[in-house]
Amino acid sequence: MTKLITTLGALDAEQLGMILPHEHIFVDLGPIAAASYRTADPADVIRVMGPEIAKIQAQGITALVECTPVGVGRRADIDLAVSQATGLPIVLPTGIYREPWIPPWAQAASEAALCDWMVGELTEQIETCGVPAAWIKVSAGDEGITACESKILRAAARAGIATNAIIGSHTIRGHVVRDQVDILEAAGYTAHRFIWIHTQAEPDFARHLEMAARGVWLEYDGIGNPKDDDRFIDWILRVIDAGYGEKLLLSHDRGWYDPSKLGGGVPQPYTYLYEHFLPKLRLAGLEEEMITQLTQVNPFQAYAR
Ligand SMILES: [Zn+2]
Repeated sequence: MTKLITTLGALDAEQLGMILPHEHIFVDLGPIAAASYRTADPADVIRVMGPEIAKIQAQGITALVECTPVGVGRRADIDLAVSQATGLPIVLPTGIYREPWIPPWAQAASEAALCDWMVGELTEQIETCGVPAAWIKVSAGDEGITACESKILRAAARAGIATNAIIGSHTIRGHVVRDQVDILEAAGYTAHRFIWIHTQAEPDFARHLEMAARGVWLEYDGIGNPKDDDRFIDWILRVIDAGYGEKLLLSHDRGWYDPSKLGGGVPQPYTYLYEHFLPKLRLAGLEEEMITQLTQVNPFQAYAR
């Protein structure tokens, strides 16, 4: 039976409702050398992000996927502390962001060593936090995947095959996703367990459908600005019409506490999807069954294993 591995245990589909598949509790986008994330205090993050989580719990959101990998300040212990303080299950990633954020140890590591590290986090725990990772987050350069990013992707493929964990990649251009899928398939990994994070950044919609036809999950995760709603709704309806409504994820890519900013910065709320966007999707003709598919069934199917 597939379960969603969260900070509050492995959960069945019956225990969960709506899930936000791409958000952030904590990201360090400050200077890499400063490594501000290392000294962040969990209590400060709870104070800033706790109220934001309370707002989505009131909407009926039952879990949130944290998309911050190694390289941009992953702190699984802080995610766990926020989860325990609020009661919201959080889904954690293993994996590494793109260059120039790839840390020296990962640049030096072999593909096999990276795979072993990911499998350890997916089956045992992340660092010493006591909670395993549910999935693998990677990335690639905007105009092409580098040798080091390819090594990490092949390691992710091996770890994904060993654990059935899904791989999601921050990838801006469709032609780079195509190269990534080629690499994954050559490694024996199925595109059906791959999420194209930030699909909306590729303006050529034909590329979205091209990747969906290969089995890739599409993710429109920039929802939250009213001026973009019509474009997103148009694309969502066309994806559903093409028969890929069961491989589509919707989220905000918002939050978060940034330890490189004073007081963690000002968080962006995770409330727009439920409060403003889903009503517009209903007005556009989406039935309740498809709303449930997009907000509840799909995120569980993607991230559970
Ligand atoms: Zn993100």
